[in-house]
Amino acid sequence: MQDSECLFCKIINCEIPSEKVYEDATTYAFKDINPKAKVHVLVVPRDHYANVGELAKGNPALLAHMVEVAQLIANREYDGAYRLIFNTGQEAGQTVFHVHGHVLTGEPLDE
Ligand code: C5P
Repeated sequence: MQDSECLFCKIINCEIPSEKVYEDATTYAFKDINPKAKVHVLVVPRDHYANVGELAKGNPALLAHMVEVAQLIANREYDGAYRLIFNTGQEAGQTVFHVHGHVLTGEPLDE
């Protein structure tokens, strides 16, 4: 379930380079090119869903797994502490319409 025009589908398929930090059968995680924290990783499902609401409706277990992956990255990077953000909709700052969780960790974060 992929979209040939989608930037993150192309990253998952290695058609566009990325700095991979984790992958498994259903998810892929890579460093954000414009980091907003010491560690800023994007966790994406291999299947294409436009946003977190679509994913929650279509495959809630996969959404739960994305949270597990975020936790795993934070365990590795910062003793398990992290912020997980899903920008949803253009007005909320979503620019890539393949669901992705921003995992911010590696340092104390502002409130
Ligand atoms: O939530 P939003 O859709 O704005 O997030 C998209 C994110 O994808 C941005 O933080 C941007 O820096 C990142 N990005 C990336 N690699 C690309 C294109 C965008 O890490 N090639």
